[in-house]
Amino acid sequence: MSFQVDEQGYYGNFGGAFIPEMLYPNVEELRSRYLDIIADPVFQAEYDALLKDFVGRPTPLFKAERLSAKYNAKIYLKREDLCHTGAHKVNNTVGQILVAKRLGKNKIVAETGAGQHGVATATVCALMGMECIVYMGAIDIERQAPNVARMRMLGAQVVAAKSGSQTLKDATNEAMRHWINHPVDTHYIIGSVVGPHPYPDMVARFQSIISAEIRTQLQEKEGRDYPDYVIACVGGGSNAAGAFYHFLDEPRTALIAAEAAGKGVNSGHSAATTFLGKSGVLHGSKSLLMQTEDGQVIEPYSISAGLDYPGIGPMHAHLFESGRGKFYGITDEEALVAAVECSQLEGIIPALETAHALAVFEKLQAKPNEIVVVNLSGRGDKDLATYQNRLKLND
Ligand SMILES: *Cc1c(COP(=O)(O)O)cnc(C)c1O
Repeated sequence: MSFQVDEQGYYGNFGGAFIPEMLYPNVEELRSRYLDIIADPVFQAEYDALLKDFVGRPTPLFKAERLSAKYNAKIYLKREDLCHTGAHKVNNTVGQILVAKRLGKNKIVAETGAGQHGVATATVCALMGMECIVYMGAIDIERQAPNVARMRMLGAQVVAAKSGSQTLKDATNEAMRHWINHPVDTHYIIGSVVGPHPYPDMVARFQSIISAEIRTQLQEKEGRDYPDYVIACVGGGSNAAGAFYHFLDEPRTALIAAEAAGKGVNSGHSAATTFLGKSGVLHGSKSLLMQTEDGQVIEPYSISAGLDYPGIGPMHAHLFESGRGKFYGITDEEALVAAVECSQLEGIIPALETAHALAVFEKLQAKPNEIVVVNLSGRGDKDLATYQNRLKLND
């Protein structure tokens, strides 16, 4: 069985490009050119140089000794929190802005939920001198003020999405609409492994640097280039896709995904798509989707804004359906406990999203010599207000 995308843009039963006719020229231009652009040695050299000197790669693979002792396994943290802008998202935005340049585009549009992808996009637009418009739900603009300020400081225009629930789903719709209306000069930088083909594959390729580095680093540290487990949190699924990519066809590596179960999978306040979702189409691809009987999207809930998405990328839907990936639903409470543990045992404050992946240790029951790599997708600075409120750090 293949876990890579096929010619039509499918992962098993999921993927494809379900787009309005008006979007076809943009998506087709990208689809017909992205592989050649990425394969070009000049592109590769420019991408690698920016990852090294602008993003700060390779990120370390850190042996977490005290977590290892507690869970009786060899636990490594892949430090994506040390990337410029504080998370893995910039790996993708650096790649896509170089693609945009080669497509002759000089304007960028993007969507953002919590603001992390918006900041990563505004960052590379400033770097390249490109105009940047970021759509963000009106409610998220209020909830995520520091990231709105960052985007504006970087010179981006932040536009409020006022339709629907005024959150990420609606911002994505409005960014796509903007793209339809500006097909010639604008590239749409999507922030996860979602959207119409070729986006899920293109974003996965740009994030695959994570597992490429894990291979090399494990070879140096452990004398073998694969772990027994790779764990990552899944919102849309880009950091997980990057951490899994070079192990997809490695049967000795178990692929473990942590979804946000919110207040509990069956509480009505959850974002655990593989548990609650059914096959459906959202934002241009077929995947698992939280929806009502008649196909209306159900509003997701998670303490973590980055996991608060009603779908998952088609690669992950396929990993779930085929049994290649194992999915855990992690509650808000479990994530908070894991965030404290990582902070106080390792001196690393993780993002709330990442804390969902760290909470899997409790459930995994790895054996003492087994190697567990967790993708530490981002740092927790942006979440300090939530930590402060929920953990009563003032008392
Ligand atoms: C955005 C974000 C996520 C979720 O997005 P994916 O596409 O699922 O990776 C996870 N962790 C951090 C730190 C994020 O900023």
